[in-house]
Amino acid sequence: MAVSSSIQKIVCCMGKPVAGNPTQYMMEKAFAAAGLEWRYLTLEVESEDLGDAIRGMRAMGFQGGNFTIPHKVHVAQYLQGLSKAAKLMGAVNCIRREGDSFIGENTDGQGFVQSLREVTDPEGKKFVILGAGGAARAISVELGLAGAAEMTIVNRSLQRGQALVELLNDDVKVPTKLLVWEDDYAVEEGTDVVVNATSIGLGDADARVPVDVETLTAEMVVADVIFNPPLTRLLRDAAERGCTTLDGLGMLVNQAVIAFKIWTDVDLDPAVMREALEEYLEV
Ligand code: NDP
Repeated sequence: MAVSSSIQKIVCCMGKPVAGNPTQYMMEKAFAAAGLEWRYLTLEVESEDLGDAIRGMRAMGFQGGNFTIPHKVHVAQYLQGLSKAAKLMGAVNCIRREGDSFIGENTDGQGFVQSLREVTDPEGKKFVILGAGGAARAISVELGLAGAAEMTIVNRSLQRGQALVELLNDDVKVPTKLLVWEDDYAVEEGTDVVVNATSIGLGDADARVPVDVETLTAEMVVADVIFNPPLTRLLRDAAERGCTTLDGLGMLVNQAVIAFKIWTDVDLDPAVMREALEEYLEV
């Protein structure tokens, strides 16, 4: 690719490591599609250098950025404000510039909700979330803000599960119960949407999420956050049971579309990002 000398704006992704970042690939394609001379840089930054790195972004006029592990929680102390969702989640994956200030947002959960809206409206629905890590936290908070009626968090470790359930009940105000995951989880009758927000399936299309698939019914939507590979065993089993399925590519695409809008104020056709992501992942 020829490098233009007329770069107008820069955004970046900071993490450790940040090599092979699919969002960078989507963003560069999206800037080109929108006719913007912008660049998306991936920068490896040590935790102890994060404050200096953000001051550098401000000094050099960066328009915003993404933050990945291990910076999602600690970045908040260097920002001048947080969105409601980022404050509730206690995690920031995206920052935007407002004059000389940087404001923290979290587009992961919004990306999931936007992807879900393509098949169902979350308002008034009953959700089961498998997992209580960063992805589960972002998704469940955003579902609560979108009007979910009730939630069940199913998690292997009690402590993480309990912390998320308390957050959802006390701060997001969505009635939520905890189930500690031991054997195969039997999905309760009346559940509308089941979300695998664990890391089971990452890099292994045959990895089994411990769910009794016989309890999945055709009225349910089954979603997976895993995007590589996108066709997980859980989604294959759910499709066989007649469920509507939603892969993790949609969440990743939509968080990028939302971040793109935050930085550029341009509404991009998500198909541009999806095509770029599929090209990057060779799926
Ligand atoms: P975390 O490490 O924060 O959380 C992992 C969760 O998975 C925990 O709840 C953990 O349970 C659970 N888990 C892991 N292994 C098992 C197992 N064998 N049995 C039961 N539970 C298990 O990770 P994240 O939440 O940040 O990420 C989860 C996945 O989501 C990753 O694979 C990531 O790639 C994907 N992701 C996808 C996005 C997208 O846009 N599609 C965006 C963000 C993340 P416990 O608490 O008991 O350890």
